[in-house]
Amino acid sequence: MKTSFQPTLIAVLVAGALLSCQPANKPAAQSAAAPAVAAAPTAEEAKAFVAKASEQTRKLLLEVNRADWIANTYITEDTEALSADYNKKLTEAVVALANEAARFNDTQVDADTRRQLDKLKLALTLAAPKDPAKTEELAGIVAKLNAMYGKGKYTKADGKEMALGEMSAVMASSRSFDEQLEMWQGWHDTAAPMKPLYVRQVELANEGARELGYADTGAMWRSKYDMNADAFAAELDKQWGAVKPLYQALHCHVRAKLGEKYGTDKVPQDKPIPAHLLGNMWAQTWGNIYDLVAPENSDPGYDVTKLLADKGYDELKMVKGAEGFFTSLGFAPLPETFWSRSQFTKPRDRDVICHASAWDLDAKDDLRIKMCIEKTGEEFAVIHHELGHNFYQRAYKHQPVFYQDSANDGFHEAIGDTIALSVTPKYLQQIGLLEQVPDESKDIGLLMKMALDKVAFLPFGLLVDQWRWQVFSGQVKPEQYNEAWWQLREKYQGVSAPVARSEADFDAGAKFHVPANTPYTRYFLAHILQFQFHKALCEIAKDAGPIHRCSIYNSKEAGTALNAMLEMGASKPWQEALATLTGKPEMDASAIQAYFAPLQAYLDEQNKGRQCGW
Ligand SMILES: [Zn+2]
Repeated sequence: MKTSFQPTLIAVLVAGALLSCQPANKPAAQSAAAPAVAAAPTAEEAKAFVAKASEQTRKLLLEVNRADWIANTYITEDTEALSADYNKKLTEAVVALANEAARFNDTQVDADTRRQLDKLKLALTLAAPKDPAKTEELAGIVAKLNAMYGKGKYTKADGKEMALGEMSAVMASSRSFDEQLEMWQGWHDTAAPMKPLYVRQVELANEGARELGYADTGAMWRSKYDMNADAFAAELDKQWGAVKPLYQALHCHVRAKLGEKYGTDKVPQDKPIPAHLLGNMWAQTWGNIYDLVAPENSDPGYDVTKLLADKGYDELKMVKGAEGFFTSLGFAPLPETFWSRSQFTKPRDRDVICHASAWDLDAKDDLRIKMCIEKTGEEFAVIHHELGHNFYQRAYKHQPVFYQDSANDGFHEAIGDTIALSVTPKYLQQIGLLEQVPDESKDIGLLMKMALDKVAFLPFGLLVDQWRWQVFSGQVKPEQYNEAWWQLREKYQGVSAPVARSEADFDAGAKFHVPANTPYTRYFLAHILQFQFHKALCEIAKDAGPIHRCSIYNSKEAGTALNAMLEMGASKPWQEALATLTGKPEMDASAIQAYFAPLQAYLDEQNKGRQCGW
C-alpha cells in the first residue's frame, strides 16, 4: 500500500473528487485570493450566496472531473490543454467565491451557513495579498516552484541524466553505500535553486494570510481542524509522544542491522542514521529494506501473488473481490457505470497516468478507479484501499457540495488504509484464497513489513509541517532554513544528512509537498487514525483476536457503524465524526500501540544490550 496522497486541484480547492494514492509528479494546484472589503450584508444574502456558490462549484467540478479523467487516461497535448483550461476556470471561480464569502465575515448567520462559508474560504492553501501585482508575483512563484520540482534532474559524471523516479528505484534496490549516496545527493542538490523563490513566497503568502485575519500562513493551515490552532499543534505533540517509544525501538533495531550491513564506522550505533540508507529518498518509509531486517523464521509461508494466480484471478476478478469486501459489510454494490467506465488495466494503445486513484465525477453515482492493476498481492490490497475512497465518496454524496469531503483531510487516506488493514490472512482464507491461516509465530514478519512503512513514516509525517510552521511564523529565518530542517529531521526521525549541508542547500525543497505547497500534517493524522478506526470496527465486529489479525469482513454491524461516519462527510467537526465511529471525540494512539504490540515485544528483545537513541 502506498501511503502518499496527491491532492489535485479539486482536493486542494473544494471537495476532494479525486483521491490518488501513489506518489506522482503532477503538481498540486495552488491558488491565491485577495479578500474583499466586508459590507455587512444580511443573513438571507449569505444563505443565497452559499446556494449560488454551491451550484456554480458543482457544475465546474463536473466539467473539471471529466476533463481530468480524459487527460489522465488518454494523454495528448489536447487533453492536457483542456484539463488545464478547466482547472484554471475552477480556480478562478473559487478564488472569486472565497473573496465574496469573506463579505459575510461579520454577518450573523446560522451555524451551518457559517460552516459552509468557512469551508469555501479555507479551500485556499495560500492567500495572496490584496495588491494585484503581488498576487501575480505569487502565482508566478507557485508555478515556477512546481515546474522546478517536476523538471528536477541529476546529471551523472558520464553525462547520463536521471529523473526522480529512476533515482528512487536505485535508492530502493541498491545496497551500495556510495551509490545510494550519489542518488541522495544528486536529487537533493536539485532543490537548491528554489530557495530564493521560496523565501519570497513565504513573505507574500503571509501578507495575504494576515489580510484574511490569520497570524501567518501556518496558523491559517492549522485553523482548518475545527479547533484552536495552538491546541491542534499540542494535540499532534501528544500523539507523537505516545508513538515515539515504538518508533525508537524500530529505529534502534534498524540501525543495528544497517550497522551489520555497512559497518558501524559508516552507521555509528549512537548517532542518527545516515538519511540515504533507508531505501527511500526522504527516509519516510523503509519497506524497501525489509530484506535487511527480516525477522528469522517469520516467513508466513504463502505469497498472495501466487495464490491469486493459482485461483485464476485476473484484474477484474480482483476488483470484484474487493467490492465483495464492501458488500459483505452491507454497502450496496458499485453501480454498473463503475465497471464500464473505470480503468483497471494499462491500455495498450496510448499513454495514461498509472498511479492508482479513486474518482467521483458527479457527486452522485459516477464512481471510478483508475489503475494499471498488476496481479500481485500488494495491488489486491491497493484496490481495497481505492474502493474505500469510492465508498466514502458515495456515502457523503447527499451532503452540500462544500461538505462533500472527508471529516478532515486525514480521514480520506485513513479510511482507504483502514480497509486495507482488514486484508489479513484470515480474510484471505475467508474468501477462499488461502487454505490455512499461519500461526501467530509468523506474524512478526508481517508486522515488521507494516511497521517499516507505517511506523517509520510517523516522525516524517509530523516534521514537514513543523518546519513549515516555523518558517511561516518567522521563528526560522531564511538564513536558518536548512539548519532548522536538519534539526527537525534529527530530532524526530533520528536521521542525519549523509554529507555536509549548508544554507546554500534547500533540502526541504527536495520533497514534493514543499515546493507544491501541499500541507503534510494530514498524513500524520491518517497514520494515527487508521488504526483507531480499525480497532473500533474490530470491536464492533466482535473480533476477539489480536487487532493485527482482525478483519471486519462480513460484519454488517461494522459496516453500519462505518457508514454512519462516512455519510457525515465534512458537515460536522471531525471530532464528531470520530466519536460517531469510535465513541470518543479524540485521537487515540493506543490503537496503533496495540496493533504493533507483538512487534514492540520482539524489538525490545532484539534491542537488549544495544544503546538506543541518538
Ligand atoms: Zn488513497
